[in-house]
Amino acid sequence: MTRHVIVIGAGIVGVSTAIWLQRAGAQVTIIDRAGPGKGTSHGNAGVLAACAVAPVTAPGLLTKAPVMLMHPDVPLYLRLSYLPRLLPWLAKYLSVANDTDTKRISAGLAPIVSDSIDQHKSLTADLGLSDWIADSDYVFAYRTRAAFDAEAYTWALRARAGFTPELIKGPAIRDYEPALGQDITLLATMKDHGFIRDPGGYVAALAQAFTQGGGTIMKAEVKDFDLTGGTVAAVQTDQGAVACDDIVLATGVWSKPLMAKLGLSIPLETERGYHIIFGDATGGPSRPTMIASGKFVATPMAQGLRCAGILEFGGLDARPSKAPLELLRRQAKAAFPNLTATSEVEWLGHRPAPSDSLPLIGQIGTSRVYTAFGHHHIGLTGGPKTGRLVAGLIMGQPGNTDIRPYAPQRFGKG
Ligand SMILES: Cc1cc2nc3c(=O)[nH]c(=O)nc-3n(C[C@H](O)[C@H](O)[C@H](O)COP(=O)(O)OP(=O)(O)OC[C@H]3O[C@@H](n4cnc5c(N)ncnc54)[C@H](O)[C@@H]3O)c2cc1C
Repeated sequence: MTRHVIVIGAGIVGVSTAIWLQRAGAQVTIIDRAGPGKGTSHGNAGVLAACAVAPVTAPGLLTKAPVMLMHPDVPLYLRLSYLPRLLPWLAKYLSVANDTDTKRISAGLAPIVSDSIDQHKSLTADLGLSDWIADSDYVFAYRTRAAFDAEAYTWALRARAGFTPELIKGPAIRDYEPALGQDITLLATMKDHGFIRDPGGYVAALAQAFTQGGGTIMKAEVKDFDLTGGTVAAVQTDQGAVACDDIVLATGVWSKPLMAKLGLSIPLETERGYHIIFGDATGGPSRPTMIASGKFVATPMAQGLRCAGILEFGGLDARPSKAPLELLRRQAKAAFPNLTATSEVEWLGHRPAPSDSLPLIGQIGTSRVYTAFGHHHIGLTGGPKTGRLVAGLIMGQPGNTDIRPYAPQRFGKG
């Protein structure tokens, strides 16, 4: 009997999962209330950041964060009115900002991100979509050697995962990347990375290939689940019930209320992030460039130069804040002094952030409900690998990746 699997969520994680399930012989329905690639997967920086094994919660964050929040040039923001609701999650989040937990988290992230380029190529090759993946270096640009040295802990984590940068200094910087301003005096370049020139378009193209392969996409909001004897039998949507054998919850930052329906309280918050697209830009970089002082990435994309980054705590409902966008604009123009554009498009998005910075991947007990969410800063990078892992679990073909760090019930009942 062919299994009918419902994947809830058509972001990069859900669509990747659906394609791998389809390849393994399942009948697959994706349910999404907005449509493919319209959530966080639409607006990210597009980097296939294979080296992204360092969580935000590095040792020392607890003492540094208050100073960072006060500084007008540091891209960390908190909407004070949201603080009371944030506090329980924040306490858990800060409790892992120590050496032991950071190394544990980093070791957990590595299998999800480090072979990202190969995973994206495996996902797309048979679908004729490999042209979406641009091979490139991933560049970190610093104003001073001291600023690079101050991130030695993070670079050591990357080195442990096998990623060591090549350093470029002095006039060689402008030979390598002419668009960068004179105040950048050191580049740390990571070879064998890549990027997507239109992440939302990429997910939409993957979704189209999925439907061409016989998959179904339903536009509906999932409200609840029907379980029979502890095993899922159907999902309840605003369009009615849909019967199934298995469910994958790939609903990104919106997963918390659905997990609550299953009796699990997940410490999941939004790490709000922003982008500005400088339309038809000239004077920008030719490859993804992380401006270290501003913690944003400038990526050449189909629509122009996309500068994406910033970390703001403020919940899902608040409107975009002005200050982060102004800082992003100011820092982009400082990093690329000759930047010109015909238009600017602003966007606010929501990174799905579990308090321990590890995604939730696996089955909830024996319910045949599987989770595939919580990829905070690395969802585009790690979506295809996650999808492959989850499809393997459902179809009885588990790989050799140790998925215990991602256990969906690790927070208990909350
Ligand atoms: C500014 C910024 C820059 C970033 N840069 C990068 C980067 O360069 N590289 C990288 O790897 N990652 C990056 N990220 C992170 C990355 O974008 C996310 O981790 C990733 O998009 C999460 O994908 P997802 O599929 O889990 O969720 P989403 O793309 O958010 O998809 C979830 C889907 O679930 C649907 N949904 C939710 N609830 C329901 C419901 N009840 N019923 C039906 N449908 C529902 C939504 O409509 C949505 O389509 C960045 C994020 C931000 C904000």
